[in-house]
Amino acid sequence: MSGSCQQLTIDVPEELKDAIIGELSELGADGIWESGEPDPTVTRLEIYFNTPVRLEDVEPRIGPIFLRANLSPPRIVIGTVADRDWLGEWKKSYVSFPLARRFYVIPSWSESVCPPDRLPIRIDPGQAFGTGTHETTQLTLECLEDCAGDVNPSGLVVDLGTGSGILAIAARLLGCKRVIGCDNDPDSTRVAAENGERNTDHFIPLYCGSIDAMRSESVDLLLCNLTADVIAQVFAEIQRALKPGGSVIFSGILVEQRDSIRGIVTRSGWTVEDDRTRGEWIAIVVRKPYGH
Ligand code: SAH
Repeated sequence: MSGSCQQLTIDVPEELKDAIIGELSELGADGIWESGEPDPTVTRLEIYFNTPVRLEDVEPRIGPIFLRANLSPPRIVIGTVADRDWLGEWKKSYVSFPLARRFYVIPSWSESVCPPDRLPIRIDPGQAFGTGTHETTQLTLECLEDCAGDVNPSGLVVDLGTGSGILAIAARLLGCKRVIGCDNDPDSTRVAAENGERNTDHFIPLYCGSIDAMRSESVDLLLCNLTADVIAQVFAEIQRALKPGGSVIFSGILVEQRDSIRGIVTRSGWTVEDDRTRGEWIAIVVRKPYGH
């Protein structure tokens, strides 16, 4: 390790923040911090790379996001700073918190005690998505709390895009006996397996892959916190894998993508049973009718 790393600073409008963080993570950012906000609608992102990155590689990823929003590309300030203890700093910022109505998230390294009226979920997300702090995860869990009781005792729940495993664990804790998680990212399936072991004595099967690996008409409830684009891509496979009468919780959808996802669902003859909004995000609960 050289003892130094590269720091990029970009001011981003709040509504573009998630898309930009996604692009920078794909570029291999080792740490992303939201720091002092120049004004309430803008977030200053400090992005750190242990392996040097070139401006020519960053600009083509960030610029188009601004252009699509009719904004001119941002100024990207690039510099070198001393190495930081990413993990140590991040661990200090991730502390226990109540989640949805039933849960209490406890970082695996914390000694916090779970309040008696809540179910503890012990998580070390590692590099995987799914700390429980994101609105899309929260919306999915709130819908799951309402749906889990309707799942037949022998019914199968699948967590598509399990990340840290948080939703699969929550489903198991809510009493669903057959829960499977999958993710097309091998690191996430490994992290999810470790988190599964932290939370339940029952083995949660996990595989690296997607919904196409599931048998036709086998899934009773699908948890699907992806993005609108991926949901549109895999909808046909979801339709195949779901049992008639089965439900899907779709999350990770931006408010402006609501109509397009609702359109895909209703054109297939499915019914929308719930629709919730949190900030710029929505989740919908849909049911596949019998005879489809
Ligand atoms: N379920 C977690 C994580 C959601 S993030 C939560 O709710 O917090 C979305 C996850 O889906 C990522 O881990 C990503 O690797 C995975 N993913 C994206 N596209 C996928 C696909 N087509 N099939 C399976 N997993 C996918």
